[in-house]
Amino acid sequence: MSPSPVHPASCVLRLAPQGGQYQVLLSCTAWRQALPVPPQGELLPDWSAAGLPPLCAARLLQVVRSGRAATWPIELPGAQPEAPLRGYLLSVSPMAPDDGAPGQACIVTLTPNHVAWPALNLRNNAHANGLTVGLTLDPSLRLQALEPAWTLLTGHPTEACLGQSLLDYLHPQARERFRQDLDRPVVPWLDFEAPRLRLPLQHRNGNLVWVEVDFEPLAAPAGAPLAGGWLAQLEDVSDNVRTWHLDQVREQALDQSNCGVVITDATLTHQPIVYVNQRFTEITGYTLHEVLGRPCNFLQGSDNQQADIGPLRDAIRQGARASALLRNYRKSGEMFWNQLHVAPILDEPTGILTHHFGILTDVTETRHLLAQLSRQAEQLHSLHHDNPNGLIAFSDEDVVQLDNQAFVGLTGLQATGLSREAFYATLQSMAAPGQAPLATALAGGEAVQWSLKKPRERVLEIRGSQPNAAGAPGLLVFRDVSADVQLYRMQKQFLATAAHEMRAPMGSIRGFSELMLTRQFPAEVQRDLLERIHRQSGRLSDLLNDLLNLARIEAQAPGSLKLEAVELQPLLHEVVRNFERPGVDSRLTLRPAPAPAWVQGQRAKLEQVLINIVSNALKYSSARGLPVELDLQPGHDPLHWQVQVRDQGVGMSAQTLERLFTKFFRVDPNGDIEGTGLGLCIAKELTERMGGTIGVESQLGQGSVFTLNLLKSDPATSEQAGARAPAAGGHPPSCC
Ligand code: ADP
Repeated sequence: MSPSPVHPASCVLRLAPQGGQYQVLLSCTAWRQALPVPPQGELLPDWSAAGLPPLCAARLLQVVRSGRAATWPIELPGAQPEAPLRGYLLSVSPMAPDDGAPGQACIVTLTPNHVAWPALNLRNNAHANGLTVGLTLDPSLRLQALEPAWTLLTGHPTEACLGQSLLDYLHPQARERFRQDLDRPVVPWLDFEAPRLRLPLQHRNGNLVWVEVDFEPLAAPAGAPLAGGWLAQLEDVSDNVRTWHLDQVREQALDQSNCGVVITDATLTHQPIVYVNQRFTEITGYTLHEVLGRPCNFLQGSDNQQADIGPLRDAIRQGARASALLRNYRKSGEMFWNQLHVAPILDEPTGILTHHFGILTDVTETRHLLAQLSRQAEQLHSLHHDNPNGLIAFSDEDVVQLDNQAFVGLTGLQATGLSREAFYATLQSMAAPGQAPLATALAGGEAVQWSLKKPRERVLEIRGSQPNAAGAPGLLVFRDVSADVQLYRMQKQFLATAAHEMRAPMGSIRGFSELMLTRQFPAEVQRDLLERIHRQSGRLSDLLNDLLNLARIEAQAPGSLKLEAVELQPLLHEVVRNFERPGVDSRLTLRPAPAPAWVQGQRAKLEQVLINIVSNALKYSSARGLPVELDLQPGHDPLHWQVQVRDQGVGMSAQTLERLFTKFFRVDPNGDIEGTGLGLCIAKELTERMGGTIGVESQLGQGSVFTLNLLKSDPATSEQAGARAPAAGGHPPSCC
């Protein structure tokens, strides 16, 4: 509040009592403006005549007589007739006795007290109740006379209260305290030095009524102690006190807040901070006195180029609400993240922006936790997303809340959002016939194998974990075990086929030898039987050799074959020579390439591949006696050499070609042409392990063309690098 314009400064007055009158020894101009006292040297019979309230005049007289110093608040009318009352502090200071001068001299000072006494100086407040009650009390505070307004104030009829102690009408919690004070030699709240007294009365209806009381001592009989009773004026100030309490409570509530609160004065150009709550000081580390009067931006330090600052300043300038996330700095220099919300406060009638209200939240820890959480979420996401197994997670509401790419890949199903029931039913509709209901299958808690028919035939291993309250799994893991199951089936089939293939020659050998042992045959029959035994044992031996070969190849890890650069021309000549018989015209012709053809491989393995294919071409065209061609030429791309073996033999149908490279497959297993059904499988396996491919074109009754595409190699570099067959990324070796 600003000081009164009428009484801008303290006033000083010297006076001396003369027979109960005052002599003005000295008065300043300001004093004379406050109270119309006579000129210096003149006598003043009574202070109340000069405008001092009667109670105050009596108190002044008493204090001056006692020679004590005292200060108390008073109110004086303003300079204009209609002007409101103005509050002052009246101070009395006794002066050292002046020999020769009669009576006691003292200095009286009037100080505008708007700041010193704000809470009680509310009489001019338009909302003040203003109900006043005059009463008289005996020295023990018993009510002697009451104005009728007493009933309005307390709800008690005046007659019923006469003779009762004023203290009986206090709020019970305050009553005892005031009563105890009465027993003291000097009652603090009846002391003239005490301010205007505020008492809590209790209305008959139970409500608390705050009153302020001015006590004026009644003249005591001669020789009696100071007070012979009291004249008192009660004023109902309940509304004002409640407002004041509410202000206090608001401030306390703001201090309890978990957010920092700051208020700046927008009517001053540098917009100083005029209020901060306790949390603000805790967050920033600055004390109240270190921040009051400063503009808010000191919290940014030199870090004032932040992206959010510009828009925040613009919004503040325009008097709009704004939010910003700022890097602020505590007094210690430590950075913290401030989530700031700023709101303008306008003067209601004029719309003038008077204040800004800022709410600070230290979100450093939250941001740190959020960053941690988001990192964890990313890790989880990637674990989940990149997991080769299909994953399904159910929410507490039994709804699929998560499926991963592997699951969608396995089933083609987007399951997120489906209830458990709908999810199981959808999966069941895709299952192979005869599959147990999924819920039943999983009830045992063990992993189950479950066959899908759609989107394509697969065998899934499904494992449930993290059961919910009802015992249903919260997480399902789907693993495609089709390959494992297929492998297992193939191994079983392979063993059965191998045993079957061996049984025939073994049976022949055993049967013919038994025949020879048990019966006598002529020499030519014996020879025939021996030839058969020899042929079957040869077949058995070939079969075992091929099986061993294949087992050896398959036992090697893909990519483990040590490769080198091999020149194909001499190798092909060698292969051709292998099939030449003395005195027999060879049906095999070689068409070599115009230049050396270096490929990546192993000489012995390449030779084995070529022999398998060429021998088949010769075998399956022998009846016709037609030539077989062996061609070496550049491949269709610059990376390969191509070897083709072309015959005009029995050829193969399209159905045969589909199964051609599988183990033990033979078009005519009981025909005259002997074979194991393993040669092509070995050729394919070896070719692919050397980085090449093998293909076939054939027509039944027309002949076949087998084509090998072999990776070119540079003999110089391959020696240093120790060339290796490409791993799975190139041409993966197939399973025969
Ligand atoms: P086999 O030892 O029986 O020849 P392979 O694995 O080498 O075994 O060949 C498998 C089958 O493929 C043969 O039994 C034969 O029926 C067929 N086949 C292979 N090469 C030819 C070819 N050039 N012409 C016709 N059929 C062939």
